[in-house]
Amino acid sequence: MRRILIAGNWKMNLIDNIAPVIESADKNNIDVLVIPPFVYLERIAIMTSGSKVFVGAQNMYFQEKGPFTGETSPLFLKELKINHVLLGHSERRHIFKETDEEISLKMQKCLSLGMTPILCVGETEAERMSNRHKVIVENQLKIALGGIENNLKNIIIAYEPVWAIGTGNTATPNDAEEMHLFIREQISSIFGRKISSEMVILYGGSVNDENIKDLLRKDNIDGALIGGASLKGEKFAAVIEIAGKTNI
Ligand code: PEP
Repeated sequence: MRRILIAGNWKMNLIDNIAPVIESADKNNIDVLVIPPFVYLERIAIMTSGSKVFVGAQNMYFQEKGPFTGETSPLFLKELKINHVLLGHSERRHIFKETDEEISLKMQKCLSLGMTPILCVGETEAERMSNRHKVIVENQLKIALGGIENNLKNIIIAYEPVWAIGTGNTATPNDAEEMHLFIREQISSIFGRKISSEMVILYGGSVNDENIKDLLRKDNIDGALIGGASLKGEKFAAVIEIAGKTNI
């Protein structure tokens, strides 16, 4: 059985009030993750300790130590007991020019340390308009997951069409489901049917308390990675609430 996961990516922002999120996570039987900026990880981990809210990181480097100014070692994250790490977010790929090959190295390092990567994949608007969205996502998955043999169960995938991130243009539940099914088939061809059927696949792209319910009704959508709507505590708590009810 796959558990629903609602994850909030704060990017380079802070939430207005985390209290409603903690309250909502504690009373709903789903997984809840918040992903603050690096410098606030420890503070948020302390604020959420004893609650059911997990805390994750927005990125990590694939080396453990050395002359890599500005990067964050996965060992530092482990020291803070951070288990979940976003990898290959579209802003990392497009603004910071991260390549599929770098993302693959990060995936391998993350898994080798027993941590859980949330691998983000998704096509741009131009790629969808030219009907290349499946080839693009297939390629992203093949490169990022190539060479991985251990801790496959720890992997989470987030399908985030770039044109839907921060734009208010959510994919329709049917379009999202079509891609989630496609991703599950790709995972099956790489790792086999059992791993594929157990893998949590999140949808991301302008998810909020108004559209989460219809997205979660789809068989292959196991939760959401949420940017904007995770910054208002009350709003994010409402999403968790709805997801909790969908789970019953
Ligand atoms: C994201 O940051 O991964 C994201 C999906 O953002 P938003 O919900 O604002 O579209």
